[in-house]
Order: sequence, then structure tokens, then C-alpha cells
Amino acid sequence: MPHIPIHLKKTEDDSYNIVIESGIAEKLPEFLTHGKKYAIITDFNVEKLYGKKLAQICREKNITIDRIILPSGEKTKTLQTIERIAESLLKKGFDRGSMLIALGGGVIGDITGFTAACFMRGIPFIQIPTTLLAMVDASIGGKTGVNMPSGKNMIGAFYQPKQVIIDPKFLQTLSDNEYRNGLAEIVKHAVIFDAEFFNFLENNVKKILNRDLSTLNKIIIQSCKIKVKIVEKDEKEKNVRILLNYGHTFGHALEQMFHYKISHGLCVAEGMKIINKLAVEKKCMNATDTKRIEELLTALGFSEKFPKYSLIDLQKNIQRDKKFRNGKNIFIIATKIGTSSTLSDSLSP
Ligand code: ADP
Ligand code: ZN
Repeated sequence: MPHIPIHLKKTEDDSYNIVIESGIAEKLPEFLTHGKKYAIITDFNVEKLYGKKLAQICREKNITIDRIILPSGEKTKTLQTIERIAESLLKKGFDRGSMLIALGGGVIGDITGFTAACFMRGIPFIQIPTTLLAMVDASIGGKTGVNMPSGKNMIGAFYQPKQVIIDPKFLQTLSDNEYRNGLAEIVKHAVIFDAEFFNFLENNVKKILNRDLSTLNKIIIQSCKIKVKIVEKDEKEKNVRILLNYGHTFGHALEQMFHYKISHGLCVAEGMKIINKLAVEKKCMNATDTKRIEELLTALGFSEKFPKYSLIDLQKNIQRDKKFRNGKNIFIIATKIGTSSTLSDSLSP
């Protein structure tokens, strides 16, 4: 049969920098070198606290900058929002030479990244995460997307930003609940990858809870380094990136069971405790390490009491997990603090 091959071997370089410094956000104009027109995408809370002021700083440097302000929260993460943003950008005369700036938490980062991936078949964007969760997790690695009525993050793309700007000063206004969401991911990073970092967290609980800026700088830098290492090895989650799901198989199931009324951080912390117990039962982990993880979580404000749930419901729920194959789930376990691996198990007693 006659055929015409199309050779599309990719050699694109998607490398970029993450800068972390207290007060860096105010230097935003120095980073705006990729486009002619810019739009900050943010939510109403972040707009009031920081958006307006940052746009003003840019305008003082003669940078053309618009703002698109969205309602806050997960319910905004829809295709309809993407369409509205795209329409608004077109009306404002944005084209392929324009650039988007995500200013906000994970929701804003996901929406902005996905809009950037699709608008005019792809325009550059910058991430300026303002929640701890987005700083150490969502803003790094290029996962973007929106929710569908039938599931979270069901439509999306891997699309890398040109730059991530992390300013720990933003965290001073974050609610305790939101702050804890980020702490859960930081503990996760330490447990799966870095025993020394885990020790540091144990020894600095008070400063972490007081949001001491120099301690925050340290833990954000270390946490980002761990995430970067994993993403560099496996950008599209084909192998090692799966380790970042530690605590998340059960965590996601709990979030669903409680209809997203309990925060991601609390569910992931509980998820880490459940998987640790399983790992101890399977003799893959020792009880001393489990205890240390539980004690750190408690010290960081993850209460020992989680609302009651049925283990059978939980089991049923995780069978719907994407990583459920041949009657078995693929779990991520810590074999000891700082080291992790996968465990395939049917969970039968
Ligand atoms: P994430 O997915 O990172 O947890 P969201 O984008 O859902 O975050 O944001 C969580 C909430 O925190 C939203 O209501 C948002 O407006 C608010 N928020 C984000 N950053 C800050 C901040 N620096 N200070 C106060 N509130 C913030
Ligand atoms: Zn998470």
C-alpha cells in the first residue's frame, strides 16, 4: 500500500526556572519579556489582596497588562470558564504574541495553564502560585486542566510554564486550612524522597506553624527540588512520577466519599496513615517510621481524629482508581522514611 511517512521527532526544550524569594512578586516586570500583551488571571480574593497592586506595578513600567478575575474555588474549573477567558482575550485583542500570568492557587494555575495550552494553539504563561499547595505541588510539572461533571481533571494537557515565581510572603494571608493543604504535600515529598528533609521538618515544627519566612523559604525550596527531580525523570507520569501519589489513592477516595467537604490536605494526611498501616501489615515498613510520620502530621495540625468512614466503602471506592488493574490496586508505599516504591495489592484481608 502506498504510504507517506510523517517524521515528527520532537526536540523541543521546555526547560524553565523556578525563582523563590520573599518579596520577588513585586519584581514581576523584570520577568515579562516573552510577550507584547499580558493578562493576569486571578480570583476575586487574590485580586483584592495582590492582583490590583501587581498590575499597577507593571503599568508603572509601561507594560500593557489586563486582568481577568474569576470566582474562587474548584467549581470555576470548567470548560465554560476556558471558553469565557478565550472570548475575553479575543475581545481584548490578544494573539499568539501574548502571554498569560496565573496569579492564585492550584485552581487558577490549572485554568490558566490549560487556557494557555489551547488559546491560538498555545501561548506562553507564567505561574505565580499564592497558596502553599500550588507553590510546592500544582505549579510545577505542567499538569493543567479542568473538571467534568463526572470527574476531576478529566480534560487537560501537559503544558509547561515559561517561569514559576514563588513569593513566600503571599502565605501570610492564607487561611490555616489552605496552609495545611500545602504542608501535607511537603510531608509527602519528605517521606517518599528525603529523610534529611523529614528530620528538618520534625525539628522546625514551631517555625513552620508560625510561617517564619526564612523557614518557609527553606522548606519550599527543598520541596520544589524534590518535585523537580521527579518531574525531570518522568514528565508525563509514565513511571517514577507515580510516587507523588503517595497518600493520594486513599486520599482521593476519602475526598470523594465526603463529597469534597473535607480538605485535600486532611484527606491526604489520612491517606498516608492508611497506606503506612497497610505497608506495616505487609512487612514492607517498620512501625517506628509510621509513628514518626503520624507524630509529625499531628504536630503540624493534622488532628488525630478524622471523621468516621466505612473501610468497605473505602475499598470499593479505590477500585475505581485509575491505577486499578486485574483486581489489584497499585499503591505507593514508603519502605522507610525517605524511600518509596509501588505495591500491587488486592486489599483482601
Ligand atoms: P489550591 O488548589 O492551591 O488549594 P485554590 O486555588 O482552590 O487553591 O485557592 C484556595 C483559596 O485560597 C481560594 O479561595 C483563593 O482565593 C484563596 N487564596 C489563594 N491564595 C491566597 C493568599 N495568598 N491569601 C489568601 N487567600 C488566598
Ligand atoms: Zn495532593
